[in-house]
Amino acid sequence: MSGVSIFEPPRQSAAQHSSVEASSTFGVVGSPGTRLLAGPDFASGRETLASHQTRLGALDLQRFTPEGLRDVVRESGLLGRGGAGFPTGTKLDVAATSPGTPIIIVNASEGEPASRKDRTLLELRPHLILDGAQVAAHATGADEIVIYLHRINEHSSAALDRALSERKNLRHSGARVRVIDAPARYVAGETSAIVSYLDGHGALPRRRAQSAAKSGVANRPTVVSNAESLAHLALIARYGADWFAEAGTPSAPGSTLITLAGSVAVPGLVVEVLGPVTIGHVLERVGGLDDVPRAVLLGGYAGTWISGDVAWHTPLERHSLAQLGYSLGCGLVAVLHDDVCGLVETARLLSWLAGQSSGQCGSCVFGLPAMAESMDEIVAGVGRSRDARRLFALAGSIRGRGACSHPTGAVNLIESALDTFAPELRAHTRGAVCEQRAASDHFPLSGDAVHY
Ligand code: SF4
Repeated sequence: MSGVSIFEPPRQSAAQHSSVEASSTFGVVGSPGTRLLAGPDFASGRETLASHQTRLGALDLQRFTPEGLRDVVRESGLLGRGGAGFPTGTKLDVAATSPGTPIIIVNASEGEPASRKDRTLLELRPHLILDGAQVAAHATGADEIVIYLHRINEHSSAALDRALSERKNLRHSGARVRVIDAPARYVAGETSAIVSYLDGHGALPRRRAQSAAKSGVANRPTVVSNAESLAHLALIARYGADWFAEAGTPSAPGSTLITLAGSVAVPGLVVEVLGPVTIGHVLERVGGLDDVPRAVLLGGYAGTWISGDVAWHTPLERHSLAQLGYSLGCGLVAVLHDDVCGLVETARLLSWLAGQSSGQCGSCVFGLPAMAESMDEIVAGVGRSRDARRLFALAGSIRGRGACSHPTGAVNLIESALDTFAPELRAHTRGAVCEQRAASDHFPLSGDAVHY
């Protein structure tokens, strides 16, 4: 596909990884006690099938009936790790009991530019994801597995191909596997966009009368599951629901992958959180921060800005975050650099989000560019307080509109920015212009000129 680029953060060296300190509540690739990231260290690269099976044992699905396997998944309490946090067991139940032969889609497209967790799993532990897809297929009676990823990410794509070729002679559910190259656009990883793409249309989000699990690709029950969620299934099928719940908390069981980004020691570093821990603790111990930052962007670019003081003591756990009105989303924890104005960075992210919509709904076609324009005027020192009030009102009118959550995500970003950076907003609306503006590009962006 021409004119498309995907941001690929600089690949960290093994030395950078091994210098990261881990603890009993979190760890990086190869750390003792980790689950998804357990096994060979970062320098060893992709884990082979032989190593995977020696370490974890072969996946024996024949000891489960599909119903029995779904019971185990439901009891585990696994919540989807793609952003929405929907219970995976419920999704499998709906697909298994709806008319038609189900299909499993491994969503490894990871359109969030700074997120690395799914690519890291694909690169280093592809057999966990592929085992998990077979678990989902056995649990639902699916006869097909589709792996949806960006082929342009060479390392993860090559690791997947090698893993698939190693598994040619494996016998699991008998589901056939095919790999689909995802369009490089932020909203192309949304469930209804994936269904639309596999049905031969563009990767365009659509309002659907029924959930994809009930009726998705070719009207078949379709389980669209994030790569990390499926990797968890590979371990749940081996070790059970009780083992899974030994990590995490009762409200959000299991370990969780997060990606550190922005002003941290190793941007793009993936951390597996195993137990109760605060954002500040992880940033101090793994992110290399020795002081509280001005702000943290949590959950992705359509996530929420939180002031550093608050974030430092906030639990890094989905349920607790939801109770505070935040979302862990794709697991991104992005730290604002001390020298960068949060409003300038927000204006840049908002312009990018406005250019990433599928261009189908008024809220994206007109609303997001209008918000981006207002933000640009404010950070340029030409917008006044009445313009900021208009921006608040515009954001409020866009929330909840459109065929998917993209415009609401942009509203989350802008509203939390105007709140978190209130002192900066006052300064800008009195005509101030930030000197740091030219340096404010430390959150990576991806792609432009996308063609469906
Ligand atoms: S809300 Fe925006 S991104 Fe979602 S379908 Fe409509 S135009 Fe596309």
